[in-house]
Amino acid sequence: MTEQVRDRKTYAMRIGGEWRPAIRQFDSIDPFTGQPWASVPEATEADVDDAVAAARVAFDDGRWSRLPGAERGEALRRLADLILESADELALSEVRDNGKLLREMRDQVRSLPAHYRYFAGLADKIDGRVVDTGRDNYFGMVLREPIGVVAAILPWNSPLLLLTFKLAPALAAGCTVVVKPSEQAPVSILKFAELVDKAGIPAGVFNTVAGSGKDVGQWLVSNPGIDKVSFTGSGVTGAAIAAQAATHLAPTALELGAKSANIVFDDCEVDAAVNGLLAGIFAAAGQSCIAGSRALVQRGVADEVTAKLTERTRKIRLGDPRLTETEMGPIAFPAQRDKVASFVEQARVDGATVVTGGRTTGEIEQFYEPTILSNLPTTSRVWREEIFGPVLAVTVFDTEEDAVALANATDYGLAAGVWTTDVRRALRLARRLVAGTIWINAYRTLNYAMPFGGLKRSGYGRENGVEAMHEYLTDKAVWIEL
Ligand code: NAD
Repeated sequence: MTEQVRDRKTYAMRIGGEWRPAIRQFDSIDPFTGQPWASVPEATEADVDDAVAAARVAFDDGRWSRLPGAERGEALRRLADLILESADELALSEVRDNGKLLREMRDQVRSLPAHYRYFAGLADKIDGRVVDTGRDNYFGMVLREPIGVVAAILPWNSPLLLLTFKLAPALAAGCTVVVKPSEQAPVSILKFAELVDKAGIPAGVFNTVAGSGKDVGQWLVSNPGIDKVSFTGSGVTGAAIAAQAATHLAPTALELGAKSANIVFDDCEVDAAVNGLLAGIFAAAGQSCIAGSRALVQRGVADEVTAKLTERTRKIRLGDPRLTETEMGPIAFPAQRDKVASFVEQARVDGATVVTGGRTTGEIEQFYEPTILSNLPTTSRVWREEIFGPVLAVTVFDTEEDAVALANATDYGLAAGVWTTDVRRALRLARRLVAGTIWINAYRTLNYAMPFGGLKRSGYGRENGVEAMHEYLTDKAVWIEL
């Protein structure tokens, strides 16, 4: 028996302030070792119903939803402190679940307290308004109230970060939450429930259920006790969830996939652009919704950019994600690796050149080499569909018009990058590119104050910024006859 198996911990769900062991457990597999490292619960339909009922009771009793906003803010600040104390342990759980780099996940988890503090500051600024009713004998006001019980459904690539995007504004607004982490990476979320308790947030405000999407996720979304569904994941699942939620008319916010363009103009600072292209696609082994998976390079710098990209890509060190010298970790699970490999095979069939990479590697074939494709026809599904792996397709363009047309010729609209020293061009593109986030001479920067979300098939709704509060509040009109 390996050490991972001997060390294996068993996790439970948090439902209504109690730890609930599951009737069935399943293994979480460390993608680097291929070994099970944690035993996680598989919720039953009754567990899901209980979690929603607990969140409903906690919402209706008003101990959280009607608590003065400043006090909710205080609780969120305590939660922020507790996250900082446990940051390394939480980050390691994510690495063992999804294989991302430990140093990256540490930075990510350490960034979360600032996020909770920002929304703590908004908790006591939920102001309504007084309205001119058009009638002298009527006074009208609009109250802004928490929307109710929120189902938060998460993917596997950045569980705590993506939970925070939902939980911090939802709790600040006064909502209660049932979260379902991905079956591929549930541990950090199950552990996180301890911190919510320690922060003094009342029982039932935050509940966890774990298990598969097709069962546990579906039971949760279709439960009529859910008032809002906030989902991050793939477009196919997002569409299914929107349809399920529609059966009881629960509104949804969907943060979905993408095929983002990173556009490099002749007048750019080439080395900065190359850094941006590499970080845009190979960070997290490309398993990132904002991956800049399409590089659009203007003809004048195309050879130089491709040569530099290729040289740097060949040097990327694959290895144990816990080691500081490792630059790219494994693919999160074998089916995902096979999906990446099949996209690259398709690219070859479609006539692309594999400039570098294009193979699985590692003792248990747990890695996919960072890969650059050129000459990929824009009609290929590899150019159009999200791969969610370390594969960059490079294409050459001539004019600004061509770049805009190519960048926007996608079903998605999550993000785009622009590399140019011409400020007027940068601003023209910021307007003309159809995406929720535009980076100019930058890529992958996110923070709690900047709204984040998609257009087209990248979804709808916004996370982060004051805009995120709107997702978890509803407006109530009050008429008073004078
Ligand atoms: P996924 O859609 O397969 O699963 C996401 C979650 O949905 C999981 O918890 C899964 O169990 C659950 N689920 C699956 N079917 C369900 C159903 N019928 N009802 C309810 N829940 C269900 O996505 P994934 O593979 O975990 O994550 C990768 C995807 O997430 C990529 O497309 C990526 O771009 C996207 N993503 C988007 C963002 C963003 O902010 N836009 C961020 C990260 C990841």
